[in-house]
Amino acid sequence: MRRRDELPPLDWDELNPYYCTVCHRRIPQKVSDRNAGLCDACLARRQAEEESRRLAEEELRRQEEERRRQQEAARAAQDAARYQADTHLGICSACGSRNISEYTVTESGGTRELACCLGCFVFWPLLLLIPFLGFKKRYRRCNYCGNEWSV
Ligand SMILES: [Zn+2]
Ligand SMILES: [Zn+2]
Repeated sequence: MRRRDELPPLDWDELNPYYCTVCHRRIPQKVSDRNAGLCDACLARRQAEEESRRLAEEELRRQEEERRRQQEAARAAQDAARYQADTHLGICSACGSRNISEYTVTESGGTRELACCLGCFVFWPLLLLIPFLGFKKRYRRCNYCGNEWSV
């Protein structure tokens, strides 16, 4: 007859032993269930590894965030410089920037065709002048917001 204190511990099942899946040491079932098959030491090590990986990822994310912030600041500075540049061609009515560029385009279409017809039927000698007349129109464009207008 065995005395009670000779019995194996309640959480130790000799017939169905559990092993740590990492270090293969025997562990009580209770510990295996609680730690998902790991002994306490291996669980602690795995948690420490996960913690350090998490910290590393966090650090990476922080650096990425910092880089993005710097890029944004650089872009904002560039933007401000573009807005403040003064080309002495007036002010954009849409955004107030003085960064304006001017260009000319040769108009084609109605006006020119009408002139051609008139030239052919009435003032045909003027036809010879058409290449030199140049139906040109001047435009100004805001280099900041892209607003365009004719002058
Ligand atoms: Zn272990
Ligand atoms: Zn503008």
